[in-house]
Amino acid sequence: MTPVGPPGTSAAGPPYGGALVDRYGRVATDLRVSVTDRCNLRCTYCMPAEGLAWLPKDEVLTDDEIVRLVRVGVELLGIREVRFTGGEPLVRPGLTALVAGVAALTPRPGIAVTTNGLTLARRVGALAAAGLDRVNVSLDTLRPDRFRALTRRDRLADVLDGLEAAAASGLTRVKVNAVPMRGVNDDEACDLLSYCLERGYELRFIEQMPLDADRRWSRADMVTAEEVLASLRSRFTLTPLPGRGASPAEHFLVDGGPARVGVIASVTRPFCGDCDRTRLTADGQIRSCLFSRTEDDLRALLRGGARDEDIAAAWRGTMAAKPAGHGVNDPSFVQPSRTMSAIGG
Ligand code: SAM
Ligand code: SF4
Repeated sequence: MTPVGPPGTSAAGPPYGGALVDRYGRVATDLRVSVTDRCNLRCTYCMPAEGLAWLPKDEVLTDDEIVRLVRVGVELLGIREVRFTGGEPLVRPGLTALVAGVAALTPRPGIAVTTNGLTLARRVGALAAAGLDRVNVSLDTLRPDRFRALTRRDRLADVLDGLEAAAASGLTRVKVNAVPMRGVNDDEACDLLSYCLERGYELRFIEQMPLDADRRWSRADMVTAEEVLASLRSRFTLTPLPGRGASPAEHFLVDGGPARVGVIASVTRPFCGDCDRTRLTADGQIRSCLFSRTEDDLRALLRGGARDEDIAAAWRGTMAAKPAGHGVNDPSFVQPSRTMSAIGG
């Protein structure tokens, strides 16, 4: 990445249009919106058993506020993809209305949800009808006892039902996200892939990142993407697919295709140089990165009566200052104070 100077400094006039461009020339077009910090699971790599101190209700953006900020992103800043996440986005009662509100924007962005799937079976029909295009469901194990230990809830069957309902609902593509952990589920990579292949789900393995509330992440316990690929190659033939673009996943054809599997090597092969993301927390803070140690308060602007243009300018400022990389592999790395569920993964 080559620094290209701060926005607005080119002699050629406003070089960046209205877009969210940073010093390194990256353009953010993919918005992650956390709609709640609450969750109905307690995954060990994310939340403590007792949960976290939830945001007070009046600090959480309302449905109208979220849609307004997404509209500013779409109309003034070039956002083209919106993903709702959390916490668990499906615990927010207004999620279907949020999807409908974003689907009504022009140009209409792609709309996706990342969910633990617990209540997906009964919600996915309405979400798809409201305009949801894609869903990612998190599933780390197919064994009920492991699921219970990992998530601290006995709900594996609900997740599997949710996946089945999502596939039946006509969504473009159902993806499954799995986080491999040493001594926990690292012997299940092949079984998870077989399960997904049989049902037409696209599986991606994500390296565990230091964003857990318990701050127990350790490099030694993290199963690397290379280890996952080695394990998969014991049962499948994997052919690398070129052209990753801004996608964090490296994709492979499985047994000649057309089915694919992905690995997201966030720690061992960071893809920060191609990052196209910007993040909005449930309490209206803009972050340029999952690992940001600073964030900017769009909620205060919004509630203070700011114009769309002023909100857009503040958002551009946050993104212009986006660091080159997440720094997880730097000796000076410090885990951000917000954890995964409070940022929006
Ligand atoms: N509750 C929803 C879910 O679990 O899909 C959405 C939010 S969750 C924070 C989003 C994704 O982040 C999930 O796929 C989850 O597995 C992943 N995740 C959570 N903590 C993580 C960590 N420490 N490292 C890597 N991925 C993590
Ligand atoms: Fe909840 Fe998702 Fe975090 Fe698990 S990973 S505790 S489902 S927010």
